[in-house]
Amino acid sequence: MATLLISHPASLEHRTPAGHPERPDRLRAVARALAADRFNALVRAEASAAEFETIALCHPMDYIEALRDATPKERIVHLDADTAMSPGSFEAALRGAGGAVDAVDAVIGGKAANAFIAVRPPGHHAETARPMGFCLFNNAAIAARYAQKRHGAGRVAIVDFDVHHGNGSQEIFWSDPTVMYCSTHQMPLYPGTGAVGERGEHDNIVNAPLRAGDGGPEFRAAFETRILPRLTSFLPELVVISAGFDAHMRDPLANLNLLETDFDWATRKIMEVADASARGRVVSVLEGGYDLEGLANSAAAHVAALMQG
Ligand SMILES: [Zn+2]
Repeated sequence: MATLLISHPASLEHRTPAGHPERPDRLRAVARALAADRFNALVRAEASAAEFETIALCHPMDYIEALRDATPKERIVHLDADTAMSPGSFEAALRGAGGAVDAVDAVIGGKAANAFIAVRPPGHHAETARPMGFCLFNNAAIAARYAQKRHGAGRVAIVDFDVHHGNGSQEIFWSDPTVMYCSTHQMPLYPGTGAVGERGEHDNIVNAPLRAGDGGPEFRAAFETRILPRLTSFLPELVVISAGFDAHMRDPLANLNLLETDFDWATRKIMEVADASARGRVVSVLEGGYDLEGLANSAAAHVAALMQG
């Protein structure tokens, strides 16, 4: 079975202020990298727009409607210091969440081995009822809940190697023993959460913070000693990846020193866990990554690894 690549042109219509790192060129860079011949075996699809009822698996309906109503007719409005909406942002956010659930349908439905969803805005900072850190809807969280509610998946794991801690995913699943959230991230760094002692009500949150200056060896050690053992014993029936590539050494927003080879390694390790308990089912959603070259090359390494599944 093939790897599914889901995207949508609406992702480019989410505009941010001049000089903002989370910009449409990010997706153009990823698309260009994934247009290379070695990715010819990918099955490519456009994301559908998520129904409000689907997004409401994680976010209250009045939050969804408030974002819809906040969508400007022209120009850009700020929701907080980092997070903005343009006229195309709400549609982009619907396609992001829709792409994530399309991927769950395809992977659990046996139509694809695994999937990568290349969309923006990203999602892992979005809390239950708060947009934050460039994020509107928490696409990874919606994918996890959707797999449970619509496909009967029991335990779902989210693995987040974005350089920032996914405070939104942690908050959404804090009290939910059926979802394990695992994260490597630089600390201290935005958003400030993600300490080892933040473990969730059911010990279902696994935070493995790294220090500024850490690179591949420290990242791999955190995975080997803290994340993978917990993930493996959780026996997930689906693994969702919050795939941010801003821990790359070229990234301007943080100070970790990962290389493309580290993302390839982490992807293969996560796939081994999925092979053991989840019949290989992996759904990966794009989060951050703000150096265009580092992002494009890292996403390519990640998708190439998925294609080996
Ligand atoms: Zn990030």
